Amino acid sequence: MRVLIVEDNTELAKQVKCTLAHERYVVDIAEDGEEGLYLAETEPYDTIILDLGLPKLDGLSVLQRLRAAGNEVPVLILTSRDTWREKVTGLRAGADDYLAKPFEFEELLARLEALIRRSSGHASPILTCCEVVMDTSSARVTMHGNPVDLTALEYRTLEYLMQHPDKVVSKTELTEHIYDQDFDRDSNVIEVLINRLRGKLDTSLIKTRRGLGYQIGGLESGA
Ligand code: CA
Repeated sequence: MRVLIVEDNTELAKQVKCTLAHERYVVDIAEDGEEGLYLAETEPYDTIILDLGLPKLDGLSVLQRLRAAGNEVPVLILTSRDTWREKVTGLRAGADDYLAKPFEFEELLARLEALIRRSSGHASPILTCCEVVMDTSSARVTMHGNPVDLTALEYRTLEYLMQHPDKVVSKTELTEHIYDQDFDRDSNVIEVLINRLRGKLDTSLIKTRRGLGYQIGGLESGA
């Protein structure tokens, strides 16, 4: 899952990025509102963590412009402590959740997980497909009840596919959600990743839709 942090406090942004990266997210940072808006409009993030007090363009304006343009990416706003007005204004402007500074990273993680879950239509942190079960809160994967050992990249790939069951996901879409913006994108890497996942899981779990991409679940027979 790919997250954008829009935060002008460099130290805080780095700490959040570090925490999230450790929890298998890929993270981009924007240090002002203009850059944040530009990245949010051009890159397909799974969630945006948006500070309200930002240089160049304030967070509320970033949020309003995104929503006005029909962008529905889940947004968690960071507010200053005890400013209920900020929370109300932010939520009314289209934020999905908020967190008051200072916050515990553990709470940020829990809220992000819930946001991503809800935005992909899942109420539970447990994703199931055939005999494969993924617990997104603990990042554990089992098949037929046995633990499966996945690298962070393999996990992110599988999680994205399992969060979007039945959907045909193109290589480009997959790449955009499992790597940050600095990654030199090469679609061959995705093929290798998918093959490694097939080797570790049931080989029929991830289907190839020729010329289109990959799919988990789905009613058609495997291509
Ligand atoms: Ca700020």
